[in-house]
Amino acid sequence: MNASRSTRPQRSRNAVGEHTATELPGGHRAAGSAPGTDEQDLVDRVSDRRIAQVVELDTPALVRERLPLLGEHAEVVMRGRADIAEILNGTDDRLLVVVGPCSVHDVDAALEYARRLSRPALELADDLRVTMRVYFEKPRTTTGWKGLINDPDLDGSGDVNTGLRMARELLLEVLGLGLPVGCEFLDPITPQYISDTVAWGAIGARTTESQIHRQLGSGLSMPVGFKNRTDGNVQVAVDAVRAAAATHVFAGVEKNGTPAILHTRGNPDGHVILRGGKGKPNHTAEEVADALSKLRTAGLDERLVIDASHDNSGKDAARQPGVAAAVGAQIAAGATAIVGVMLESFLVFGRQDLEAGDPLTYGQSITDACMDWDTTVEVLDGLAEAVRRRREHR
Ligand code: PEP
Ligand code: MN
Repeated sequence: MNASRSTRPQRSRNAVGEHTATELPGGHRAAGSAPGTDEQDLVDRVSDRRIAQVVELDTPALVRERLPLLGEHAEVVMRGRADIAEILNGTDDRLLVVVGPCSVHDVDAALEYARRLSRPALELADDLRVTMRVYFEKPRTTTGWKGLINDPDLDGSGDVNTGLRMARELLLEVLGLGLPVGCEFLDPITPQYISDTVAWGAIGARTTESQIHRQLGSGLSMPVGFKNRTDGNVQVAVDAVRAAAATHVFAGVEKNGTPAILHTRGNPDGHVILRGGKGKPNHTAEEVADALSKLRTAGLDERLVIDASHDNSGKDAARQPGVAAAVGAQIAAGATAIVGVMLESFLVFGRQDLEAGDPLTYGQSITDACMDWDTTVEVLDGLAEAVRRRREHR
């Protein structure tokens, strides 16, 4: 976007520190402005024809300064990243479990979930490396609520400044409980605001083939999983892991908000996540072997995370425990290439629609359906048992 002279938005704050917003004229010239006769007026009519409003966005530096990562938080992040990298390269024989709601829409409910999760995370720490799914960005097949960062008021008003603050606040609180965090990265600017708090990152099924997201993954500081495509294509995720392992140069922003050319080092901790596709699962031993052979052919390490939700459960949360048990059986039988499992879980079973004016059920997902808390504990116990049985094969 290139705001022209006469429509340039004011990017300063007003006297009381509120964010300023500038209405852009769209298809119509704002009332009172000069008629479109001179050359400048003609030039002004070229830009921002479909930008209705520009609102100042806080810089990453400002948000991070207001909500700083403390030493105790950094320790949880670094230990989480290091443990996950060791699980990925086989030097730690535990299982990575990324578990939590499909999306966070209510920070209180998410924090209650985190408090509950911190217990089994500790109790099962010899077998599982529990990492909480704290997802703020939701890629949509068409339209819908895009997550807490984009729309924290859940009403389409799009207060991204508040969303970023709420997200970072929650991330710090979860870290304060000793739990590492897993996030999906969708927007290429958002990581500058929160990625210092994240131990494991995901690139979703709709963006795994996108060069922007592969480049992003190559520069992220944590291990990053790439989902197979929504149609079930696993090769694009294998290609994504290769692409993200390479160095890249691309345009982005610095922490202070300045446009910058970013040179990445490449991410050696990329991996594929099997999530099923086209309504069909892909977590069976045969499909796991097929995915591993694709990784081998590409010259990549043979390791996989399996998502028990999404198309692997037919989007039916009641089927997730069965998928987790089937994956657990492969692990118990000695499948060392299965390094992680993803679960969608919240306080209350299922999902609900977000409807204007309707009250929401506390602790229930407004995106994908989730397992309830008690079921989640049983699934975690089962996965820990599978890991113990896998050790007997060594
Ligand atoms: C998710 O993890 O909630 C998600 C949107 O997954 P996918 O990209 O596999 O659809
Ligand atoms: Mn989901």
